[in-house]
Amino acid sequence: MEQMAVAHLDVDAFYVAVECLRRPELARQPVVIAGSSPRAVVTTASYAARRFGVHSAMPAARARRLCPQATFIAPDFPAYRAASAELMAIVRSHVEQVEVVGLDEAYLDLRALAFPRAAMRRLLADLRQRTGLVCSVGIAPNKLLAKIASAECKPAGFLTLTRAQAAARFAQRSPALIPGVGPKTTERLAQLGIHTIAELRAAPAGHLQRRFGARLGAWLEAVAQFRDERPLQPVRVARSESRERTFEQDIRDPERLHSELAQMCEQLCERLVAHDRRGRTIAIKVRFADFRTITRARTLPRPTADRSQVARVAAELLAGEPISAPVRLLGVRVENFARGEDQAQRGGVRAQERQPPLPLEAGWQAQA
Ligand SMILES: [Mg+2]
Repeated sequence: MEQMAVAHLDVDAFYVAVECLRRPELARQPVVIAGSSPRAVVTTASYAARRFGVHSAMPAARARRLCPQATFIAPDFPAYRAASAELMAIVRSHVEQVEVVGLDEAYLDLRALAFPRAAMRRLLADLRQRTGLVCSVGIAPNKLLAKIASAECKPAGFLTLTRAQAAARFAQRSPALIPGVGPKTTERLAQLGIHTIAELRAAPAGHLQRRFGARLGAWLEAVAQFRDERPLQPVRVARSESRERTFEQDIRDPERLHSELAQMCEQLCERLVAHDRRGRTIAIKVRFADFRTITRARTLPRPTADRSQVARVAAELLAGEPISAPVRLLGVRVENFARGEDQAQRGGVRAQERQPPLPLEAGWQAQA
């Protein structure tokens, strides 16, 4: 039996769901997220609105004609990003290797889990309870099939598919079912008499490559059998944030060192706050002119991103070190971040943008 290695998790009508959390009276009502300009298109439609034929990418004006009773809401991306960050923090507290592919979509590496289906059920329940968001999950041997499975079972779905099950289940469906097979390819396939996934699969070896070129042809042959070798590409979660400065001229004056340190603490905390991170351990690094390097750290009872607290601890650590030689480099670091669940438990949708975490700085790792 193939290993069920990947889950694809996707929030159902994500933007609508976030709006409904703020305005519960909208739940199960026709809701359309769309801008107000004359050329605006529908970003998301609730399932109730979809029953009137409204769907994403449709001109908003047309959606208004199809479903005049719907509540139209302009998109609020900061709120969606904040909800997304909260959601992904919870996902990461359940599964270590996560590849986020959109605000409401991620691939999860299940290979380390003994009971992946049970783990996914727990994750879904946790997400629903803590964020109010309902997701669909597809579980499969690879990313392609996991994504097809989650789309197939929406909304509030849960579907596990082996490649053999998929081949049977989707035999008579259009090749357009496969993400990446767009309208153009679908049309060209139809011209070749290929209207279903079964027909695509049955195309003689080499036929597709002759018609579509080597690359696209080979890819079509693979996806017709739901084969996909793409690895998961998890983004490493930042574990620390640091600032350090190599001085143009070595510094011996403790007062100047302290003022440099205070500046770095300020910048560091600004960044921590911007990324909604707090850490319990504060460390300083001092490198002397002769390259002798020391690090000193203190761990606090509670995580912090507070400027004055970080600066005070860093200053105390520096004051505790005899400055026996001129200093060429000074650094400060905050690590031991509050875990995802602690962050999420503080609750509330935060209206701020997050950026991907920076890679760890090599120097600090070596010293730690
Ligand atoms: Mg979605």
